[in-house]
Amino acid sequence: MLAVESATVRFGKRTALDAVDLEVADHEIVCVLGPSGSGKSTLLRAVAGLQPLDGGRVYLDGADQTALPVHRRGLGLMFQDHQLFPHRDVGANVAFGLKTHGVPRAERDRRAGELLDLVGLPGAGRRAVAALSGGEQQRVALARALAPRPKLLMLDEPLGQLDRSLRERLVVELRTLFGRLGTTVLAVTHDQGEAFALADRVVVMRDGRIAQAGTPLEVWQRPASSFVARFLGFDN
Ligand code: ATP
Ligand code: MG
Repeated sequence: MLAVESATVRFGKRTALDAVDLEVADHEIVCVLGPSGSGKSTLLRAVAGLQPLDGGRVYLDGADQTALPVHRRGLGLMFQDHQLFPHRDVGANVAFGLKTHGVPRAERDRRAGELLDLVGLPGAGRRAVAALSGGEQQRVALARALAPRPKLLMLDEPLGQLDRSLRERLVVELRTLFGRLGTTVLAVTHDQGEAFALADRVVVMRDGRIAQAGTPLEVWQRPASSFVARFLGFDN
């Protein structure tokens, strides 16, 4: 599905992404972990086409995307700096994008309602976005990213502003939903528990490079370095 080859991004003298190679298989859920500043968001933005590469290439289903703008890549995106349309109601925000995909009105409303139920905002379709809390807006943004049923969904800290009990419930429901829809997911999270519960494979980043990639069990049982062990909270 996704292949990233030697992706490199520099900001002045700082190398935010240092020749990163990453493959994500169809229907796979990959979570990227790592300390603040390790390049997680830069990796996602580079895959999405929001951050030009200084080197390397990005392929989707074998097709080179490197020169394509973000809207031509057909991805579902939810980023830290997500922007909802403040003057449209919640339902219109979730259904945004479906209209351009030619989805009929009744189906748009049905799907928006279903997704709002999923993210814990049942019946919120007519509410004003501006009147929602930060966490509620984050849930609307997540529903909006899911609405067009993208083949590859990219999430940057999708549950970051939510309280723990809601996060734990959502992680389980999202895993089920992604499985049902066959969605391939590349997600960034600070929360190890969230990554281990959601992911088929986790990627741990350090200083713009991948320190380790493997199944949650592999990474947990055999950290590749003392850095990964420390990051996971082992004291050794
Ligand atoms: P966090 O967990 O805090 O979100 P991150 O792992 O997502 O961190 P990035 O946002 O990818 O980290 O940043 C990687 C490095 O690149 C950091 O050193 C950051 O300061 C730098 N960086 C990111 N975006 C820019 C930018 N637009 N201009 C300059 N430097 C940037
Ligand atoms: Mg980030």
